[in-house]
Amino acid sequence: MELNENARIDTSQVDDRRGSGGGGGIGIPIPIGGGRGGIVGIIIAVLVALVGGGFGLNAMNGGGSEQGDNTALEQRCSAQDALKQLDCRNTLYVNSIQAYWRTAMPEVFGEQYQPSKTVFFSQNVNTGCGQADSGVGPFYCPADDLVYIDLTFYRLLADQLGAPGEFAQPYVLAHEYGHHVQDLLGTEAQMRRQQQRDPANANELSVKLELQADCYAGAWAKNATGTSDEGGQKIFKGITEQDIQQAIDTAEKIGDDAIQKRAGRPVNPDEFTHGTSAQRRQWFTQGYSTGDPKSCDTFGSTR
Ligand SMILES: [Zn+2]
Repeated sequence: MELNENARIDTSQVDDRRGSGGGGGIGIPIPIGGGRGGIVGIIIAVLVALVGGGFGLNAMNGGGSEQGDNTALEQRCSAQDALKQLDCRNTLYVNSIQAYWRTAMPEVFGEQYQPSKTVFFSQNVNTGCGQADSGVGPFYCPADDLVYIDLTFYRLLADQLGAPGEFAQPYVLAHEYGHHVQDLLGTEAQMRRQQQRDPANANELSVKLELQADCYAGAWAKNATGTSDEGGQKIFKGITEQDIQQAIDTAEKIGDDAIQKRAGRPVNPDEFTHGTSAQRRQWFTQGYSTGDPKSCDTFGSTR
């Protein structure tokens, strides 16, 4: 994968809370297990599985959102060697993903795309879904419409989950923005209501939502080389088959069965919330091969 060094990195699409109080706040972490709703993350199952908890995060009320300070980030990302910086590259990934949906959402679903910022945080953060710490992995909070990521997560992904490829990063972000699109389209709310009506199938419904987010990530990946910054400069110079393979590898590494095995636990399908490795690969590939979010009908096709 090659990013275009002439593309302008739009830092207004992120909120950098790493240096502010967000990193050091005290508070009660969101309790793991039991409740549903609130946060939808790519990998929440990882730590949940590792600590032997349940399948969701309980949304706590309130949780004041705070503003970060983008000054340092802005400076770094307008420098010559900006693309060497992890945070600047990730900002550019966010730019590409949102540029894609700005065009695709009206085209495919007939609805306007509403932008959502990505919050960079360190260790813990206050969100509209309550306080969260890095342990939950990157996530989307429907209550404040923001994507949250502690960028050190990529180290965990590389070292502990065996997905070191750079393209794992835009895949993770595109998955979270997939949840934002589901939120905008009402899919997420609909699914939560369904879970309440049919608690016995709550996990199965969660899997469908997660696989759809993977499929949306695949659709973005297919169209990513067509995305541009506001001045019309292409964001990517190229994306190779190897990059796509890295996204697929990542999807497989964070399948529920893979994570349970890695945690030394027996594979228990009743606890699946994000889908198996095979399903995650399948749905990312579905989105990638069609390039069409309409083909991501995980709710219809597996029923
Ligand atoms: Zn997710």
